[in-house]
Amino acid sequence: MFIRDIFKQKKPVLSFEVFPPKEEDGLDAVLGAVKEMSALPIDYMSVTYGAGGSNSKSTAKIAAYLKDNLSVPSLAHLTCVANTKDAVKSTLAEYKKMGIENILALRGDKPRDHIGQLFPGYKYASELVEDIKKYGDFCVGGACYPECHPDSDSLDADIENLKIKVDAGVDFLVTQMFFDNDKFYAFRDRCVKKGINIPINPGIMPLTKAQQIQRMAILSGGSSMPAKFLRIISKYQDNPEALKQAGIAYAVEQIIDLLSNDADGIHIYTMNRPEIAEKIVGVVNNLF
Ligand SMILES: Cc1cc2nc3c(=O)[nH]c(=O)nc-3n(C[C@H](O)[C@H](O)[C@H](O)COP(=O)(O)OP(=O)(O)OC[C@H]3O[C@@H](n4cnc5c(N)ncnc54)[C@H](O)[C@@H]3O)c2cc1C
Repeated sequence: MFIRDIFKQKKPVLSFEVFPPKEEDGLDAVLGAVKEMSALPIDYMSVTYGAGGSNSKSTAKIAAYLKDNLSVPSLAHLTCVANTKDAVKSTLAEYKKMGIENILALRGDKPRDHIGQLFPGYKYASELVEDIKKYGDFCVGGACYPECHPDSDSLDADIENLKIKVDAGVDFLVTQMFFDNDKFYAFRDRCVKKGINIPINPGIMPLTKAQQIQRMAILSGGSSMPAKFLRIISKYQDNPEALKQAGIAYAVEQIIDLLSNDADGIHIYTMNRPEIAEKIVGVVNNLF
């Protein structure tokens, strides 16, 4: 099922993100986590992709398992950095063969230890979107950044570039994680003013482990952390159970506020942890 049609039929949409294992032998554990999470009332699940193609096979396998074995619509991510046009074409052929219908088209970041040309085929995700649309009948999502992508000089310039990507054929957007909902509302308003009128699914990352804090700061590309959020970190970072509980409560509060402000959906970065997803959805499931 095309995810753009899910947004047409039902709002708000609830989605989860999972990531493939680093090594092929970790696949069963991920499939187990995905299966547990599929019992929750979700509308789709997305599967990340290692830039440079390192675990592309696992991405496709998990995405296919979701739709074929669990009847959950899946969104397979695909990055184009350090990839040639031919390599992208063969991944698209593989996705098509496996019946994958939805792709999150991304540029990606420089893969660790990469040697050689960084952009042998594509410079920006918008160029990948164009090729995916030319290649076949896929529904295409794109990434967006409520607090500006780190490579851009200003949010205005970033939204100008986002408009190019949307006009290339993006059907819906998923945001970078953020911790301050007001930043998202301001971004959404600016997108509408620029003529971006497709669904924007806001991404929420629950903070549940102290080790996650640094990773979150890197992954989020500098998303601002409100004083309230920082107080939770400083008060509970040495108390794992309390940090988990407070982090889940913070994510729940963000979600309730987003839904009462007519967000198109909620995309939860699950970190492959069903127990966290269950706890959050257990509190907010009646809001969907
Ligand atoms: C929801 C989400 C999921 C993600 N999943 C993955 C994943 O699975 N694997 C992974 O490796 N990474 C993933 N990422 C990270 C992402 O790949 C990086 O943030 C990357 O730096 C940018 O990718 P993009 O697709 O947003 O790039 P783009 O849309 O190409 O934008 C990158 C930068 O280039 C600028 N730009 C775009 N077009 C133009 C233009 N025409 N002229 C000038 N400047 C331009 C933009 O403003 C921006 O600053 C994800 C990010 C998000 C938000």
